[in-house]
Amino acid sequence: MRPVRVSTLSTCLVFLLALAFHAGTAAASGSARLQRDVLPTFERLKLSLDARKKSYSGTAHIDLSVKAAVDSFQLHSEGLALQRVTLRSAKALVPSTHTQSGPTTVTVRTRAPLRPGAYSLDLDFTNDFSTRAQGIYRLETGGESYCFTQFEADDARKAFPCWDEPSFKVPYQLTLVVPRSHRAIGNTPIVRTIPGKTSKTIVFQRTKPMPAYILAIATGPLELVPITGMSVPGNVVTVKGASRLAGTAAKMVPPILAALERYFGSRFPYEKLDVIAVPEFWPGAMENAGAVTFRDDVLLVDPKTVSVGQLSTLSVYMAHEFAHQWFGDLVTMDWWDDLWLNEAFAEWMGDKISDEVSPEYKRRVKDLRETQSAMRTDSRLSTRAIRRPVSALDNLLQAADDLAYKKGQAVLGMFEQWLGPETFRAGVLAYLKEHAWGNSVGSDLWEALSKASGKAASAAMTTFLDQGGVPLVTAEILADGRVKLSQRRFLGYGVPAPGEQLWRIPVCLKYSDGSEVRTQSVLLTERETTVTLEGGKAPRWLNPNGDAAGYYRWSVPPEMLHRLADGEGEYLTPVERVEFLGNAAALLDAGLIHGDEFMRLSAKFADDKDPEVISALMDNVELIRRIFVTRELADPYAVYVRRTLGPTLARIGMTRRPGETDGVSLARAGLLVVLGDDGKEASVVAFADSLAKQHIATPGSVDPTLIEVALDLSALRGGEALFSDYKKRFETAEIPAERARYLSALGFFRDPKIAQEAIRYSLEGPLRPQEIFTIPASLGSAIEYEDVPYKWMTENFGTIASKVPPMFMVYMPNFARSCSLERLEAAKAFFADPAHSVPGSELEMARVRDAVNDCAGLRQREGAVVASYLIQLVGSR
Ligand SMILES: [Zn+2]
Repeated sequence: MRPVRVSTLSTCLVFLLALAFHAGTAAASGSARLQRDVLPTFERLKLSLDARKKSYSGTAHIDLSVKAAVDSFQLHSEGLALQRVTLRSAKALVPSTHTQSGPTTVTVRTRAPLRPGAYSLDLDFTNDFSTRAQGIYRLETGGESYCFTQFEADDARKAFPCWDEPSFKVPYQLTLVVPRSHRAIGNTPIVRTIPGKTSKTIVFQRTKPMPAYILAIATGPLELVPITGMSVPGNVVTVKGASRLAGTAAKMVPPILAALERYFGSRFPYEKLDVIAVPEFWPGAMENAGAVTFRDDVLLVDPKTVSVGQLSTLSVYMAHEFAHQWFGDLVTMDWWDDLWLNEAFAEWMGDKISDEVSPEYKRRVKDLRETQSAMRTDSRLSTRAIRRPVSALDNLLQAADDLAYKKGQAVLGMFEQWLGPETFRAGVLAYLKEHAWGNSVGSDLWEALSKASGKAASAAMTTFLDQGGVPLVTAEILADGRVKLSQRRFLGYGVPAPGEQLWRIPVCLKYSDGSEVRTQSVLLTERETTVTLEGGKAPRWLNPNGDAAGYYRWSVPPEMLHRLADGEGEYLTPVERVEFLGNAAALLDAGLIHGDEFMRLSAKFADDKDPEVISALMDNVELIRRIFVTRELADPYAVYVRRTLGPTLARIGMTRRPGETDGVSLARAGLLVVLGDDGKEASVVAFADSLAKQHIATPGSVDPTLIEVALDLSALRGGEALFSDYKKRFETAEIPAERARYLSALGFFRDPKIAQEAIRYSLEGPLRPQEIFTIPASLGSAIEYEDVPYKWMTENFGTIASKVPPMFMVYMPNFARSCSLERLEAAKAFFADPAHSVPGSELEMARVRDAVNDCAGLRQREGAVVASYLIQLVGSR
């Protein structure tokens, strides 16, 4: 699955949304794992789905293999009304009874113990469609009704009876009865369609063995656009009237799939590949075998108004979900404790493939910026190991939080660099070959990598995966020219170390011996070690994280830090400069540099020629705002923003130039937002106003990369009339991205009365479930409204809970993320109230507590230094 990342201003709330849009985290399932005395071997499923009705009916026929003499067994069924449950042996009916033995399980009992052998179970059931975009759900759009599904992690059991755990991989054979005017999509091609009077019966080909969570169904008056040039047939599937927006996706799929087939050295494992655009959908996308679902605003784009950011996102999402078809679907984790690996691998592979197919999006650099945020989370004591035991009672998808995606990806990348890409690939291929169509655990992959490389990869990897935290590598140059390396856990300033921790760290030293630049790989396994550099001389400069591939923080003496920054273009590559800026922020956190020094170091990159470095610099400028800027400092901060970033915008210009790279266009969009909003740069706001008007008057006439920025900034000073206009455009938009853009802009009106109206609208307006957090997030990014989102959440907790699946409510404590200890205390009390507690939210609360304490501590420690730096800037005008 791919979580949605919100593309507007980065704020604490945006972070929340990144978390909240992780689909999943099913609420406690209320039972232990199923026993393995009775195993399913095949399931035939027939469902009558009329999306125009409130409920549906179905029958399931499940072949069973009884392994031991038992007189009862369990299967999953949650909220289904079971009419008939019949157990048969090969020869005869077996008398049995059934009871709903837990919220999610049914127990079947027999009078006498079953003898081992083959049996079958038939069940008839009815159920209401969900309307909250989980399980089998219905929705209406454009006056038509549709059914879609989303099952990860444990919602298949809410749709039909099954053995709903990833280790039960069986073939399914699906038959759907739908209205005559509807179409239907499943995981496999259609074998035949039998017309009836008002309905038709559609029989799908039997699937390969698969876990229930990657089953998919779509029905309704769907439109299909064929994808040509793939090794298997496939279509882009849309709701009625939207297929005109499918062309870009149809062109993007084949090269991405082909690149994956080359890497894996094998053809796509399933019979066909459809990509389906779903209007109501919590995650960004979901890897259902052969039937990948996407949120419609991700998959469907208008070629005239599509932005570089949208195309880059679509490419990455596709590559991630298609990578899962091998890693996740073909080979499935045995249990959810390895979900992190499933996601980390897809994230790593997806970005690698996206970089290969569309290098212009510079995915590697974007990853590096995201890794910085993962390391920040990982440095806190509330962080857990990304691989840890998960019980059936846990929030299953919390097993793969944002940290697991990005830390897991970064650790895989580090080991790929250490082992060498070809060796790493050989290990991955051996692992896939051994476990194809079955299940595996994480250590199976480490062992395959160790075997392929002859190196102790397994021992080193487990130090990153089985313990929480990120190491700090300190490099010191000794008088004789050797380098002393030491390691300890990286922690925020004043946080006591939780105990002795050691990692086995592949360190890549990059340095100049005066005549040439060299790299040297060292596996740091001890608390400290001394390294003789190749060439034997003292280095002129030394970067302890060469090529920025290491998952660790690093520290060098202050003069070396400045030398690296001053020599930027010459000593550090663009990815290394991006990583340098992120590491500088970490040094500030740890109290290893002061706030003014951090700002001075960062400013050295303001005239960097590389747009990705400018984007990383903006992260640091934004960090200053988030931690230090109070209402009193808003004006001096605006001066700082204009001084630091204004010249860069002047250099690249406010409009797209012929032949410029996509990175420049993306950096421009970021610069305009920061300069217009935080920097209060009147010329930028006026420019945005004119662009917004032009876009509305003549769609397609404005650089698509600037449309969202223009609409957001135009709202800043907008009045009632503009608010109504944007609201109407949001409600009537036919292009999903336009809908998202106007929704975002609705949160940028700063007039107090309109802001109040906007936040009311987010719950009372015709918003889709996944859209209700957008306005509060945008609004909370303004200093004067930073209290609003938390207040909104607490005052409307019940209403939010009625719109949001229980599995997402676990993330609500993140609304208290800020620098305010007062709000933290209020939040602790609020979530301690049983009426507001959700299983798993204690963990979120602990994370929020650590983040708020970090922020408040940093503000207290460095606030005065930063304030005087900012104020002195105003004076030095
Ligand atoms: Zn995924």
